[in-house]
Amino acid sequence: MQHLILQLSYLIGSITFIMGLKMLSHPDTARKGNMVAAVGMGLSIFTTIFLYRYHENGQMHNLHNLVWIFIALAIGTVVGTMAAKKVQMTAMPEMVSLFNGMGGACAMLISMIEYHHMSLEMVANSSYHPGTGIMLVIVLGMMIGTVSFAGSIIAWGKLNGRIKDRTIPGGQALNFLMFGGIIILAIMVVGGFGDAASQGYLFYGIAGIAALYGILFVMPIGGADMPVVISLLNSFTGCAAAFGGFLYGNPVMLTGGILVGSAGTILTILMCTAMNRSLKNVLIGSFGGAKAGPAGEAKAAGNYKEISLSDSAVIMAYAQKVMIIPGYGLAVAQAQHICHELEKVLEEKGVAVSYGIHPVAGRMPGHMNVLLAEADVPYEKLLEMEDANDQMSTTNVVLILGANDVVNPAAKDDPASPIYGMPILEVEKAEHVIVNKRSMKPGYAGIENDLFYKPKTSMLFGDAKKVLQDLVSELKNV
Ligand code: NDP
Repeated sequence: MQHLILQLSYLIGSITFIMGLKMLSHPDTARKGNMVAAVGMGLSIFTTIFLYRYHENGQMHNLHNLVWIFIALAIGTVVGTMAAKKVQMTAMPEMVSLFNGMGGACAMLISMIEYHHMSLEMVANSSYHPGTGIMLVIVLGMMIGTVSFAGSIIAWGKLNGRIKDRTIPGGQALNFLMFGGIIILAIMVVGGFGDAASQGYLFYGIAGIAALYGILFVMPIGGADMPVVISLLNSFTGCAAAFGGFLYGNPVMLTGGILVGSAGTILTILMCTAMNRSLKNVLIGSFGGAKAGPAGEAKAAGNYKEISLSDSAVIMAYAQKVMIIPGYGLAVAQAQHICHELEKVLEEKGVAVSYGIHPVAGRMPGHMNVLLAEADVPYEKLLEMEDANDQMSTTNVVLILGANDVVNPAAKDDPASPIYGMPILEVEKAEHVIVNKRSMKPGYAGIENDLFYKPKTSMLFGDAKKVLQDLVSELKNV
């Protein structure tokens, strides 16, 4: 009976994960989807704690160490809840990276603990071997979990600026060597090479090299490529967790891992497609890496012209179609609510307003969608990049709010540019382009933007929130 209830809870858990994931694909249902999956996860955790039974010394046992388990659960819940409540929207990718690293560390530790149990058995009984299949699952879970853990921590440090982009001379060759070394050692461990003691050295040797590999593999990747790397590491953690589920014969862990692994892989591919680049090119190319990067320095490219608030208000009030292009700066300024206000004021004047959303605008996938949903901007007003570009030539005014890299024409025109090949919002096709930012400083990729110096473009300097507040007041008087 206990077993039946446990299996039923795992089935419910797996179904809620799938339902939750489906609901996450639309802003209207995303919040509820998250809750549905969390309830399924909670149910599976508690039924495992109280109903899971394991076999040892010829007898079945319930889980013990319950006090420790609940202390760990309480600490994790408090820390996780506080971190999620406190985090600024713009720092979300860092948190995702850190949490992803924790998932990788869990998968790594699960494999290490299970390996430790088995090596004790092997020492006690020299003829004992857990079987090639189990050994393969343990080694793969540990390898992938360790790479994901180490890589995610480096990604976290890079996103919050604590770790700078660094290209190690001969880094690619070293990575290649380490990768080969990991595979050879893994074959030796899985194949049962040597006695229990030498097997142990090999196993922990793999862990050491995998950690170094994770660090060196993420270290040189920078600039505009971090979203792809985070998504890739996310899929690694999912795979590592799925190996853990396989090891314990736990279907909900297996399903959860497979869902995270496949969702991460699909997202990685979609982002590469959105940037018009291959994954290989992202991982070993120079795009956004040490050549550019967040700390990159831009040089002046000519003269730009400024526009006043009142002139901006007049141009927009008499336009038929205005497209707003939000970017990272809008999120920094927390100007989403006043942006929605501007949209409503313009619509009252008979202007059709839409938003052009670039897939990597902001600092995480879907950042702009989440930001604008927070301000109740109707979802139908958000145009995906292709649709936005189709409408650009019939748009009178494009208002760029704190976006830079995602409207940089160098991605199309300059083969020498590190962002060459990335599809962009082609704002130059519109009649007028108004750019709001605080200065002429570059965006995340650290490169100059020629758009600001084009004849059609006018700069409207200032913090996005303040500028939008003033613009709304001006518009009300037009
Ligand atoms: P960018 O980082 O290219 O540009 C943002 C601009 O906003 C800056 O040039 C800055 O200029 C301006 N800004 C900052 N604060 C304010 C403010 N308070 N008011 C007005 N303007 C402000 O952002 P984009 O959204 O165009 O592009 C995103 C970049 O981030 C891409 O390179 C992408 O690859 C990368 N990235 C994306 C991730 C994702 O998943 N979406 C994750 C990680 C990186 P100034 O200082 O002059 O005001």
